[in-house]
Amino acid sequence: MKRVIVVGSGAGGATVAKELQGKFQVTVLEAGRDFKPFSFSLSILEQLKKTGLFFDEREIQLLFSSMKINITDDRMVMVKGISLGGTTTLSAGNALRKDRGLKELGINLDDEFQDLYNEIPVTNDHQNKWRHATKRLFEICKEMNLEPEPIPKFGNYENCTNCGRCVLGCRYGVKWDSRQFLKIAQDRGARLVTGCKVLKVVIEKGSVKGVQAHKGLKSVFYPADIVILAAGGFSTPIILQNSGIECESRLFVDPILCVAAEQIGSYQNRELSMPFAVQKEHYILSPYFDYLSFFFNKSWCYPASDTLALMIKLADSCNGSVYNSNIRKILTKRDKERLQEGVEICKEIMSRLGIKKDNIFLGTINAGHPGGMLPLTRLEAETFHNPILPKNLYVSDATLFPESLGNPPILTIMAMAKRVSKIIIEQFGQ
Ligand SMILES: Cc1cc2nc3c(=O)[nH]c(=O)nc-3n(C[C@H](O)[C@H](O)[C@H](O)COP(=O)(O)OP(=O)(O)OC[C@H]3O[C@@H](n4cnc5c(N)ncnc54)[C@H](O)[C@@H]3O)c2cc1C
Ligand code: SF4
Repeated sequence: MKRVIVVGSGAGGATVAKELQGKFQVTVLEAGRDFKPFSFSLSILEQLKKTGLFFDEREIQLLFSSMKINITDDRMVMVKGISLGGTTTLSAGNALRKDRGLKELGINLDDEFQDLYNEIPVTNDHQNKWRHATKRLFEICKEMNLEPEPIPKFGNYENCTNCGRCVLGCRYGVKWDSRQFLKIAQDRGARLVTGCKVLKVVIEKGSVKGVQAHKGLKSVFYPADIVILAAGGFSTPIILQNSGIECESRLFVDPILCVAAEQIGSYQNRELSMPFAVQKEHYILSPYFDYLSFFFNKSWCYPASDTLALMIKLADSCNGSVYNSNIRKILTKRDKERLQEGVEICKEIMSRLGIKKDNIFLGTINAGHPGGMLPLTRLEAETFHNPILPKNLYVSDATLFPESLGNPPILTIMAMAKRVSKIIIEQFGQ
């Protein structure tokens, strides 16, 4: 049986591993190890915060090894997951279909989305968990004709405890993440190697022979007939660069900026993350308790239970790059104008809740949806294969997006991964 190596076990990697195991012998190489939800008491950390101990977002990695933080020269905080399940383990559980940009290229993923809806429980029936403040925000958005909608969530939310720690890993098994696809792949016979950081793809005479990786202190070569890179929007481009294949400087990250205020007893920190969203053309608005801003931004000085925030998640310009692990990303004038437009709407929503505009403060810009550095074009609408890649090398993660979604991408990445799998089966299957 032909050997397939999948690099990464996040949204794209776990999906292709599940789809291909059986037709091929799949080995998943994952840089991280088992995911463990953040286990520290947030109320104790809130007390510690008063001592001034928390001043740099990267400190979070000391307590939570599954989260990796980079800070750009422009002070933008970049977040990614580096354990089994990739960044899906840190997600807010949002399951949105966002394939408009792909449709414009002539790519129809209806069947793939339908399969995913058959395989993964998705619900938008969680209003019974919403706090009073969230319900009021929802009503105000409706009054302002912003057409808010509850966000569909991956998982079974009847058992949700409203602990508010979704982005720190769900300890109650409520939220679905890609480890469940990985488990199916393993039950079917796929091999999984953790703690294995792939450095480059080994190419001879225009064909991929395998990958070179670091496993512990050893350098190991893993032979393969087909390699699929799904190391995420920051890492896949680095592996390609190390292999002599240059990507495009079209990195987007979907930055978020929170607009916050004191609101006594709002308890947003004890509520499922991002309960509803307002969709605007270039950004979404959603209630969101931003832990990074709460712990590390000095303006966030009120108790967690009394802090209420609305997030603006922007579809940013595709103008960034990653080189030698160095992320270059700046917000353009247009990006900043759009964020400012979002800030004004959030201020208006909050003032209708009775909050004085002068008492509103902002969060730290952070981002966790990287992608776009090997974007699909019309020419690859059928093949999902960029001609700069050897025939037996594919990419199956957010790197393929033609543009920023400004929206949660997991469901759409998994739909693309299903299509990549079908194409590989057609091309290379027995
Ligand atoms: C806090 C937060 C909340 C989010 N909430 C949502 C949400 O609610 N809904 C949503 O749709 N999206 C959400 N996202 C975004 C979403 O999680 C990611 O966009 C998505 O998981 C990306 O999928 P991927 O397959 O491209 O990469 P990832 O899921 O990041 O997977 C990449 C994997 O590759 C591994 N890897 C990296 N480099 C190497 C290497 N060299 N060798 C081997 N393995 C490697 C990583 O450890 C990781 O496991 C959120 C992101 C963050 C940060
Ligand atoms: S709020 Fe619900 S879904 Fe989120 S981590 Fe807690 S139990 Fe899990």
